[in-house]
Amino acid sequence: MHHFKGFFVHCGIRSLDGHGSPEARAAMDQPTRERRGLLIVLSSPSGAGKSTISRMLLDADNDVTMSISATTRPKRPGESDDVDYHFVDDDGFDAMIDDGEFVEWAPVFGYRYGTPKAPVKDALRKGRDILFDIDWQGTQQLEAAMGEDLVSIFILPPSMDELERRLRSRGTDSEQVVADRMSRAAAEISHWPEYEYVLVNRDMDKCLNQVRSIVAAERLKRTRRIGLVTFVRDLIGPAH
Ligand code: 5GP
Repeated sequence: MHHFKGFFVHCGIRSLDGHGSPEARAAMDQPTRERRGLLIVLSSPSGAGKSTISRMLLDADNDVTMSISATTRPKRPGESDDVDYHFVDDDGFDAMIDDGEFVEWAPVFGYRYGTPKAPVKDALRKGRDILFDIDWQGTQQLEAAMGEDLVSIFILPPSMDELERRLRSRGTDSEQVVADRMSRAAAEISHWPEYEYVLVNRDMDKCLNQVRSIVAAERLKRTRRIGLVTFVRDLIGPAH
């Protein structure tokens, strides 16, 4: 994890803050737009609408890439390997841990889930934002590894009855799985104060708009807009 954090210090993301090489600075053709990528975390109990909102956000915003997790959970009907998850067996997951391939991983509902490091590095190197659909355990680990660029959002269902209705209407999980997920939902929701933003998903479009507003504002934060240093220097001169 510390190794990963070190990567950001050395890979050039920070080196573009006005002290980078002339070539690096010349590459910024729109300096006021140049910014560091965000790590956008969306967490919620299953069924609160997070997957739909993630998909809608990705469709609506070309600057966001989805992080595809690896999991030992069996594939559900309609899911595709390397699209929804990288589906791996226990040995494969162990090998990924041993090879240091995860930025975070955690056990969830009896299976293991982890975020591969390489695509995250790649997206951030390109100044793209990356979206994570991970639980509170993963969020804590990402926060520790790279809290500075993390934007954490928790999505609450409007009620537990509505959550159960949404889980059932999905029709992909057995009764036992639905019951398990309901019993764990309250425990997951109890982590809501660990998140910067907390939304109640009463209406999918409204919730998507709220997520988009958060992302838009976070992108405008001064500390992330590395192009501003040279822009303002050109604006008022180096003496100030
Ligand atoms: P599902 O099996 O319904 O796709 O996901 C179950 C839970 O695992 C969800 O809360 C989801 O956010 C979480 N999850 C998915 N991928 C990861 C991951 O890479 N790391 C962690 N920590 N949690 C994950």
